[in-house]
Amino acid sequence: MGIDEIFEVIEREKIKFIRLQFTDINGILKNVEIPSNDLKRAFERGIMFDGSSIEGFVRINESDMYLKPDPATFAILPWTLEGQKSARIICDVYKYDGTPFEGDPRFRLRKVMEEAKELGFVPHTGPEVEFFLLPRKDNKPVFEFLDEGGYFDLLPVDIAEHLRSEVAVMLEEMGIDVEATHHEVAPSQHEVDFRYSNALSSADAVQTVKLVIKTLAVKNNLYATFMPKPFFGINGSGMHVHMSLLTSDLSENAFYDKEKDDISDIMRYFIGGLIKFARPITAITNPTVNSYKRLVPGYEAPVNVAWSLANRSALIRVPMARKMGTRLEYRAPDPSCNPYLAFTVLIKAGLIGIKEKIEPPMPVEENIYHMKEEEKGIFGIKLLPENLSEAINEMEGCEIIKEALGEHIFSKFIKMKRKEWREYSTFVSEWERRKYEII
Ligand code: GLU
Ligand code: MG
Ligand code: MG
Repeated sequence: MGIDEIFEVIEREKIKFIRLQFTDINGILKNVEIPSNDLKRAFERGIMFDGSSIEGFVRINESDMYLKPDPATFAILPWTLEGQKSARIICDVYKYDGTPFEGDPRFRLRKVMEEAKELGFVPHTGPEVEFFLLPRKDNKPVFEFLDEGGYFDLLPVDIAEHLRSEVAVMLEEMGIDVEATHHEVAPSQHEVDFRYSNALSSADAVQTVKLVIKTLAVKNNLYATFMPKPFFGINGSGMHVHMSLLTSDLSENAFYDKEKDDISDIMRYFIGGLIKFARPITAITNPTVNSYKRLVPGYEAPVNVAWSLANRSALIRVPMARKMGTRLEYRAPDPSCNPYLAFTVLIKAGLIGIKEKIEPPMPVEENIYHMKEEEKGIFGIKLLPENLSEAINEMEGCEIIKEALGEHIFSKFIKMKRKEWREYSTFVSEWERRKYEII
């Protein structure tokens, strides 16, 4: 939407407030609300805020920062009430001197997309967001199931069906093209899929989808959680990311080779890059202690660094669709990741693959969960990191990730996550007490 058009809509729809949104290093959406009268000023000069209060941003002495709204992201918030109707605009973060803030996750994604553009590509992503809906008590989630439903189940088991439709309607109103919503495999687990788009608007959409789901859950006295593994013994929540590279004019899919009617060399190299950097990437795509409780055998989540043309036990799956639909599905990410940073490192790894013509290993068509260790050795299959600490160590040694994230985010992220790991590993849990009380 152009700026003039935005002001017309504000006038016509009597929009009172504008929420300026941006995302911190942890992927948490932040917002500051301004009266719509101030939006003109925001477009012209930006709105100042204190960056020192935002996780992973800056120190006190350099804390004056600016939010500059990106007009393309204007959307009315459909749940705000008549008389106090609000809209949101997603912002880019600028420093006092007027240059982009290198620690803004959205800026990192813009930068890697520029790099892709220089090679003649526009990266497209299509994430599948999974989550659990839980009962709510005293404003906190209760870790019990709302239903005993399973994959694609419908009423009467699926008491959240109504909520899912509401989510779909609101997302459509906000300009997100919902392709499917369904009950997932685990009880109380759901999924929302929306149409793929360029990686920047797709990352924006993830943030919007999470916000809408959380908001509607509250309105229905429920609690939506995107934590990767809320329950032991059943599937966790992933955020599979479908990826393709379109040509600059968006008319063709560079992952498709017309002559061979098959995946292109470019796609193969892109996969080569992803496989090569899969272990260090995991720190960003799976950034919490809890993430690694999902990445275990037996729950449809990947464990092994391998790719496949069909089977879902691999990290990277290439769905059957060809022509414009040719794409890969990267199955490790979970919805606790910062989508901007996750897409940044995934795209970066793929582009390195293309630039250096990295050949991936052979695709593996058998179920890797059932393969013996020696067999995995033959295919050169490595494991994904087994915990956050291992992932962070991998990431720390990876120059490519450092380049993609920039020094600022790279070092802040590692420091923060080391602290998180220390906190977790020194905490004494109920499990330990039960296990060792007898000693
Ligand atoms: N919930 C599974 C995961 O943790 C994925 C299920 C599916 O294939 O959609 O990744
Ligand atoms: Mg799913
Ligand atoms: Mg999937």
